[in-house]
Amino acid sequence: MSGNRQLTRAILALGSNLGERRGTLSAAVGDLVDRPEVRLVDVSPVVSTKAVGGPPGQPDFLNMVIAVDTSLDPYELLAHCQSVELAHHRVREVRWGARTLDVDIITYGDEQSQDPVLTLPHPRAQERAFVLYPWALMDPNAVLAGRSVAELAAEAADMPGLEHAELEPSESDGPQA
Ligand code: AMP
Repeated sequence: MSGNRQLTRAILALGSNLGERRGTLSAAVGDLVDRPEVRLVDVSPVVSTKAVGGPPGQPDFLNMVIAVDTSLDPYELLAHCQSVELAHHRVREVRWGARTLDVDIITYGDEQSQDPVLTLPHPRAQERAFVLYPWALMDPNAVLAGRSVAELAAEAADMPGLEHAELEPSESDGPQA
């Protein structure tokens, strides 16, 4: 891994399927760029993905990606993403793999790493339409591992379950207070 402190473009993927999902995503984007070393460059639309594998009734996932320019090194960026995740995991309702917030580093410049602590590009990004599709909407020219992100999205097995998330001024999965 290089230790340079120049700005590096990174793609981050955010997902939530528990609680106030849209509010969580918005707050998480704010938290991720709420330090001088991380500058927000672009934001994708939010997509909705059917939760696969758990019992019925699990809320759909809301997913999005953002592009940031950062002077953090890759591990510093991972620690930062994990601290933002933790800040949103205070409500311990986690069951069946449901996630208040998940933040993954999809790419960090052209960095390649097989380290299990931080694998770059993210090893499962190429097959996840919920990452690829919003990324392609944000940047139609995006490329991952030499392939068009839009093409990879079209081939992904979870593509048929994907929808644009409806815009709602406020969202709550539980009863209103
Ligand atoms: P998950 O719970 O699926 O989000 O996985 C989190 C674990 O994956 C953490 O222990 C990270 O160290 C590790 N990891 C490996 N590569 C990445 C990556 N590109 N982005 C985020 N976490 C990663």
